[in-house]
Amino acid sequence: MSATSDPRSERVQVRRIPARGDYDQATIHAILDEALVCHVGIVDDGQPVVIPTIHVRVGDEVFLHGSKGSRLLRTLEMGGEACITVTLLDGLVLARSAFHHSMNYRSVVLLGRGRAVESREEKSRVLDALVDHVIAGRSADARMPSENEIDATTVVAFPIDEASAKIRTGPPVDEEKDMSLPIWAGVLPLGLTPGSPVAAEELSADIATPSYVTAYSRPRGDR
Ligand SMILES: Cc1cc2nc3c(=O)[nH]c(=O)nc-3n(C[C@H](O)[C@H](O)[C@H](O)COP(=O)(O)OP(=O)(O)OC[C@H]3O[C@@H](n4cnc5c(N)ncnc54)[C@H](O)[C@@H]3O)c2cc1C
Repeated sequence: MSATSDPRSERVQVRRIPARGDYDQATIHAILDEALVCHVGIVDDGQPVVIPTIHVRVGDEVFLHGSKGSRLLRTLEMGGEACITVTLLDGLVLARSAFHHSMNYRSVVLLGRGRAVESREEKSRVLDALVDHVIAGRSADARMPSENEIDATTVVAFPIDEASAKIRTGPPVDEEKDMSLPIWAGVLPLGLTPGSPVAAEELSADIATPSYVTAYSRPRGDR
């Protein structure tokens, strides 16, 4: 695989194994859309912290949300520098040597400063999109957020501008001298598999499980 397109800045140029870097917006969007969670890195009073949370991509922006009381959201809405990372794990790569073991993955690193979303209408649209990012079709069934719930929620937008994808695919890469060793080598593919839905205890028996639950899957980008 070779690097596609060019990074928008040196800060997001993949230097370690550059051939795995990909700066194509469609590739970056597909990874962001498939990933259920992201990790957000900020520096708080000199201390780096990386916090897991839910994200959604809408157009050319990634949105994060949370309680008004959240340190993470307060830092982001004030325009602090952030790094948003998502990781999709596609397989375990078993080489003959311990040294060349690896993983197949698709990941995105996004750098930038956030924009606080102020209008109730935009917030409401983003909150619907967040629900549908996690489980497509759910926002149409769920009770809409009240004005109080919207007011209690901070929403911050990040442009997908300075971003990189890094992708590893394929078999292990062993050294020539190890190729004849009698050791199994190959890839164990991994993916997200939903279990059987468990209805809430107090749920009325006449409420059927929606098809978006029984047939749950993530949107799939190219692997
Ligand atoms: C599941 C998984 C497991 C990994 N395991 C290891 C491991 O055990 N050891 C190890 O050294 N590396 C591992 N990597 C690769 C790791 O993410 C880094 O790419 C690598 O360590 C080089 O880091 P660096 O800061 O030197 O990268 P540099 O290439 O110097 O980073 C420069 C820029 O490239 C971009 N970039 C770097 N890494 C990524 C990435 N993963 N995704 C998107 N953009 C990126 C960022 O914009 C970054 O600012 C793993 C990656 C994944 C997804």
